[in-house]
Amino acid sequence: RNLKTYFPIEKGLFRKKLGTIRAVDDISFDIYEGETLAIVGESGCGKSTLGRTLLRLQEATEGEAIFEEQNIFQLGSSELRQLRKQMQIIFQDPFASLNPRMKVMDIIGEPLITHESMSLKEKEERVLELMEVVGLRKAYGYRYPHMFSGGQRQRIGIARALALNPKFVVCDEPVSALDVSIQSQIINLLQRLQEQNNLTYLFISHDLNVVRYFSDRISVMFLGKLMELGPTNEVYERPLHPYTKFLIAAAPVVDPHARNKEKLILEGEIPSPINPPAGCRFHTRCPYVQEVCKREEPQLQAIDNRQVACHFPLET
Ligand code: SF4
Ligand code: MG
Repeated sequence: RNLKTYFPIEKGLFRKKLGTIRAVDDISFDIYEGETLAIVGESGCGKSTLGRTLLRLQEATEGEAIFEEQNIFQLGSSELRQLRKQMQIIFQDPFASLNPRMKVMDIIGEPLITHESMSLKEKEERVLELMEVVGLRKAYGYRYPHMFSGGQRQRIGIARALALNPKFVVCDEPVSALDVSIQSQIINLLQRLQEQNNLTYLFISHDLNVVRYFSDRISVMFLGKLMELGPTNEVYERPLHPYTKFLIAAAPVVDPHARNKEKLILEGEIPSPINPPAGCRFHTRCPYVQEVCKREEPQLQAIDNRQVACHFPLET
């Protein structure tokens, strides 16, 4: 609720304050148990910061995040430790997120030792089970990360995230670093694991094709703000926000038989998250801009089962 994550920009010995990056700027939304909520937007829009803030890998500046009736931002360190079991993250670059000097057995098993005080034997059994679940051969348990392909490394990252049976998983661009042919394997794996374990995903991506067939609902971020939120199919078929329409039109068409969609080219200056434009943050690039857009910031408003932050939502 009303989530804000700001970063000060400071310079020099006396840390002179030059400004503030408003990476996440007053965002409210719900995530339902067992669903996949996608967050899409161009790089730098704040979507990763949002995911990290929800897990307290990044401190929020303001607002609250309620998980099973607890405000995550108010938990002390021991409560936070308990919460860590329930909430996990899968990173974009599996290689950078895996310790190169640790064997797979220890990488996947580390959370079990830290949180569950398991014996080595129990840990080993659980890790082998997890490896099987994510489709890795058990014989690979004593290899190092560099001996695996990108897809296999992402499977290691997923096994590690699942080790403690979490309920909520932030997937931060989990397939963006992978070849297209491997992407669908990992997406299918995530989908199967979700069904088997009733996982709830916050799925962060800049790739609208990836989220289209995977997410239940989709939310669109631009410069720290939510622009649109709604059921995935409806948002794709009938975007209400001009920016959503642009993102969909800009995504490469997967179906070669699909007719060319109406082209929507964005012009105008790309605004800065340090000094976001007054009024609607998208107004410097919006083809539908009116005078009021430059003065008044549109609030997220409900239209049927959807939400949009625009003074002039597209034809409905
Ligand atoms: Fe475009 Fe105005 Fe809507 Fe912003 S509020 S997206 S500038 S029409
Ligand atoms: Mg990111």
